Amino acid sequence: MTSRPGNGGHATNSGRTRVGKYELGRTLGEGNFAKVKFAKNTVTGDNVAIKILDKEKVLKHKMINQIKREISTMKLIRHPNVIRMYEVMASKTKIYIVLEFVTGGELFDKIASSGRLKEEEARRYFQQLICAVDYCHSRGVCHRDLKPENLLLDATGMLKVSDFGLSALPQQVREDGLLHTTCGTPNYVAPEVVHNKGYDGAKADLWSCGVILFVLMAGYLPFEDNNLVNLYKKIFKAEFTCPPWFSTDAKKLIIRILEPDPAKRITIAEVIENEWFKKGYKPPKFEQANVSLDDIDSIFSESMGLVKRETRFTSKCSANEIITKIEEAAGPLGFGVKKSNNKLKIQGEKTGRKGQLSVATEIFEIAPELYLVELRKAEGDTLEFHKFYKNLSPALKDIVWKAEPIDEEKDGSSPSK
Ligand code: AMP
Repeated sequence: MTSRPGNGGHATNSGRTRVGKYELGRTLGEGNFAKVKFAKNTVTGDNVAIKILDKEKVLKHKMINQIKREISTMKLIRHPNVIRMYEVMASKTKIYIVLEFVTGGELFDKIASSGRLKEEEARRYFQQLICAVDYCHSRGVCHRDLKPENLLLDATGMLKVSDFGLSALPQQVREDGLLHTTCGTPNYVAPEVVHNKGYDGAKADLWSCGVILFVLMAGYLPFEDNNLVNLYKKIFKAEFTCPPWFSTDAKKLIIRILEPDPAKRITIAEVIENEWFKKGYKPPKFEQANVSLDDIDSIFSESMGLVKRETRFTSKCSANEIITKIEEAAGPLGFGVKKSNNKLKIQGEKTGRKGQLSVATEIFEIAPELYLVELRKAEGDTLEFHKFYKNLSPALKDIVWKAEPIDEEKDGSSPSK
């Protein structure tokens, strides 16, 4: 589905903002790079959470291909411990990610209100966390920002990890190089991430899971210091002490996870085989979704410059021959051609997705007996322009000397809009 809710949503009779079929409600939370709002699906009555991102920031991003891949992967994932991603929509300025709405609040609110958890309870959450993280890793998506705010609970108390698939975003959008230093706590971040030398996301995620397990069982952080430099020193050396109420096996496992050298750190596969971890572990059942990725494709492809709005080729034929050839080729495709001097307007007879497609074509003599022909989408849908040009090209092969590929992948940092 291609969802274009218009320019930033619009107000309904009830005075509420509407985005596609969703009516927006209260703000549930505000992260570093996004706002999360409660919303109601007006067709089904279902409650959802909608994450609202600034489109320009997302699409100007250097890691746009990775973001697109990860968001697409997340839409395919249905894991009981991962917040479901239902669909992605875009307006002119915003991207809306429609998510499963959970009502149990943040896991860490529990600790804030009633203190540390018993080891069995902590283990149950840790098992769910590891299971979710391992599953997403197996699909090529790392979280990179696991922290208490991303651990939510549903009405039955089941752990739901949020923000998977958006992980490529925060650090880049913050553009501070050092993760979290300006925007939040570095307490959960692996030492190699702080070093920022390039790291294995899966190993870094496991470190964060280790910190989370420690906090659940201790009721406080393993690494804490008011002075940021001292805090980093503690993280780099993994300088922490387990409280006396931790069992020996839990202690041993935490020490293996909070190993500062990622090469020596225990792996997730080994954690799953660990005796302490395995106690009472029931791997969940989950289904593979059969969903469409058209919404994500349409938002990202246009802005990624995958489909350019113009293309050009050179020709050694005369301007008249070029014009005649284009006229002959466009007619059977359902396009009419209007001429004026060395300019052509190629107009679709049918109304397309965004109205009639209109292609402005101009022929320039760039050297004796060498012409440059430029085709530019003047009106209509860019993807339809792309398709039109692909259909037109074979008929022009006799007059084309050199052509620029229309679907050349550009750097995502320069959206074509
Ligand atoms: P985030 O930007 O993902 O850290 O979200 C900020 C806050 O919004 C979270 O800490 C939650 O309190 C709330 N929130 C995020 N996603 C959801 C969701 N799917 N359901 C309910 N609340 C959410």
